[in-house]
This record gives sequence, C-alpha cells and structure tokens, in this order.
Amino acid sequence: MEQSRATEPARGTREAPPAAPAPVPTDRLRFAMPPMHDAVEDERRHRKERLAGALRLFGRHGFEDGVSGHITARDPEFSDCFWVNPFGMPFAHIKVSDLVLANADGQVVEGAHHVNQAAFTVHSQVHAARPDVVAVAHCHSVHGRALAALADLLDPITQESCAFYEDHALYDSYFGVAVDAAEGRRIAEALGSGKALVLRNHGLLTVGGSVDAAAWWFLSMERSCQVQLAAKAAGRPVPIDHRQAVATREQLGGDLVAWINYQPLWEQVSRGEPDLFG
Ligand SMILES: [Zn+2]
Repeated sequence: MEQSRATEPARGTREAPPAAPAPVPTDRLRFAMPPMHDAVEDERRHRKERLAGALRLFGRHGFEDGVSGHITARDPEFSDCFWVNPFGMPFAHIKVSDLVLANADGQVVEGAHHVNQAAFTVHSQVHAARPDVVAVAHCHSVHGRALAALADLLDPITQESCAFYEDHALYDSYFGVAVDAAEGRRIAEALGSGKALVLRNHGLLTVGGSVDAAAWWFLSMERSCQVQLAAKAAGRPVPIDHRQAVATREQLGGDLVAWINYQPLWEQVSRGEPDLFG
C-alpha cells in the first residue's frame, strides 16, 4: 500500500492528459447512401437483388403464411410491369433468377413461374395509383393481422410508431379472398398518399420509393403493432402529443431514413446468404 501510494503524484500536480487525436474529416467517414444507376440494366439488377433479399428477410421474420404475401418492385424501364416472388416458392429460397416480371394484368412477361394473379392485382392497382412508389409489400404477419382484426390504427405511443402518424390508414372493408381490380382500386384509394395501410381482417401493406424503404416500413410497422398490442394488454399506453408526434414523423418518417435503417439487415442477408444473387 505504502509503495503504490508513493508513486502517485501529489494532489494538484497531476500532469495534463495528452491532446486528443485530431478529428477525422467527415468526408473521410463511410456512410452508405442509396446507390444511383445510370444504366437501366444496373438499376433493374439492383432492384431485383434487393427484392430477393427482402423476401428472404421476411421469411426469417416469419411473415410467410402458406402462399400468401408478396413484395413487388416496379421495373425501371417498363414502369407498368413489376418484379414479384414466384407463386409457392419459400421466401427463404428465393434467388434473383427466380423472380418473375408481371404486367399490370398479372400476366407473366419474363420468368419461369406463375404469380398469384389475384393477389398481384392489388399490388398492380397500388402501383398504378402511386407513380412515386417503387415497391409494395404485403404479408399476413401475425401482429399486423391482430391489429387488422381489431380494425385499429397505430397510435403514436413510441418513437417508431410516430413514423406512421397521420401517414397510414385503415381499409375498413373485407370482401373475401377473391381479389379483383375493383378491390385493388379501393385499397389504393384508402392508401391515398400514405406509406401504409391496415387491411381490416387481413393484414398490412406498405409502400416505398425503394424496395429497402417498403421492406423497412413493413418490418417496423409489424413491430409497432406488436408493441401496441403488448402495451395495451398490459395497461394504458401514454400517447405522444400531436405536435411531438408530427415532429418525430418529420424526423423519422421519410424513405431515406427507412433506407438507412434497413441497411444492417441487408448487410446481414447479402453477406450471409450470397446464393440470393444467383
Ligand atoms: Zn393478403
């Protein structure tokens, strides 16, 4: 004890710490941003890769229920044609080369598999009504379906749920499984200019200006449904007031933020399952 005490500098005479290292200029720090492609072939390949990755992630998250569930990505050249998962193929197995290009009527124009034509009609009508949208995601995920069974919307009770505040809607009808163009149009009308829809007695639908954004909104919405159901089952959630909910949506509710939030998942699936590029 005596020895160690002897080596300590006397109180008040401690040497100043060395100067902190100089900051690295911010332009030398890596920060991924959505890639831009000049050639339409490159953009098509990019969208298909992200689509295959998103489907695999949806499979991992348990959003698949039998053969229901689709993600569509608008073709960058033929803007009324959409890449979609093949009918009956497990999300976990989907590769870029498995994706099917279907026209607005659900007819396959490229690829070797059927598409679920009736379900595809909904996506096609949403794409037609929203030229700003590149991708549409719809699955029968468990917590989304539970909220849909309650015909409820997401309340602004967490930071994440504020991204959907006054930017999602309820499609307050259910007309059975048979989906025709008129049903698709009604769904697109209910969506309006929003990013997401709760389809009563059915599930969730999200849209985005990129595959990554649409996929992130779906993942985030499903989790927000889970949080809301758990919080309401446990007690009375405290709502975030209107002004703060709007301000938080302005901070977190844009497609660029969704894209950035999605990148860790994309990194995981693209590095961990490189066969998706096949
Ligand atoms: Zn459905």
